[in-house]
This record gives sequence, structure tokens and C-alpha cells, in this order.
Amino acid sequence: MAEQAGNLTFGIIKPDAVRAGKTGAILQRITDAGFKLRALKLIHMTKPEAEGFYAVHRERPFFPDLTAFMSSAPCVVMALEKENAVKSWRDLMGATDPAKADEGTLRKEFATSIGENAVHGSDSEENAAAELAYFFSRLEFV
Ligand code: ATP
Ligand code: MG
Repeated sequence: MAEQAGNLTFGIIKPDAVRAGKTGAILQRITDAGFKLRALKLIHMTKPEAEGFYAVHRERPFFPDLTAFMSSAPCVVMALEKENAVKSWRDLMGATDPAKADEGTLRKEFATSIGENAVHGSDSEENAAAELAYFFSRLEFV
């Protein structure tokens, strides 16, 4: 995996989108955009697991709501492969706040608010590697 690190990123289809029945539509958009799925599973995070994942945000005022939301229902975690994967995936997701997201982005189409915004994507190669390792073991990558 190490030699391909720059081509891999980590994504989540968040609980709002899974709950709304948008998992299939979002996966279709992801593969249509040229990403290859290298790992994929449905999980339901505990509150402590969500707090561990979003630990960088623990001092932010929205941290309790964010971690309650992320542990409220199942989500889909993914390893996505494409050239320039981190930026390509964030471009497809769009801005954090759906009101500011460009036309054609996933958050424009599927997010309902800044807190419940349908998808997550790593913001650097370093964080992608750490987030992939948080959710997946070696054996789960194809
Ligand atoms: P993500 O990390 O989920 O891909 P992001 O990198 O666009 O999103 P971050 O600044 O890392 O945005 O915020 C992480 C998540 O915290 C956001 O996706 C959103 O769900 C939530 N969040 C961020 N800012 C706010 C806010 N002002 N109010 C409520 N929730 C927020
Ligand atoms: Mg982020």
C-alpha cells in the first residue's frame, strides 16, 4: 500500500445519507468520477469511536453534536483510489456547508446542513493514511 499512498484517500458516507437511502446513488457518483473502491464496509460507530476519529475537533463547539451524529446510525467507510485522490475526492464532495457547495458536488446534492453534510474526506495524505488505518486492517484492502 505504501507505494500507492498518494493515490488513496479515505471517505465516509455519513449517517444522514445512509439513513436517507442515498448510499447507492453516492457510490455510483464515486465510481462514475473514476474512483476505484479498494475497501468498503458498513459500520455503526460508538460515541467513543466517533470521538477518536474526530479528535482534532475536540475543542470545537460542534464536537458533541458531531460525534453524537456520527454515532447515531450506520455509515459507510471507504478507501478510494484515484490519481491525486485527496484533492479529487474533496472536489467531488464540495464545501463543508452545502449552501456554499458548487453545483455538481455531492454535498450540494445530498447534504442538508453544515453538520449533516453527507460525506467525509481526508484533508491530507498524512491524515488519509491515519484515517484508513483507524477503520481498516491490511486484509480488508483489495
Ligand atoms: P469532513 O472532515 O467531515 O470531511 P470538512 O473537512 O469539510 O469535513 P471540518 O472542518 O473538518 O470540515 O469539519 C468536520 C465536520 O464537522 C464537518 O464535515 C461537519 O460535519 C462538522 N462541522 C464543521 N463545522 C461545523 C459547524 N460550524 N457547525 C456544525 N458542524 C460543523
Ligand atoms: Mg475535515
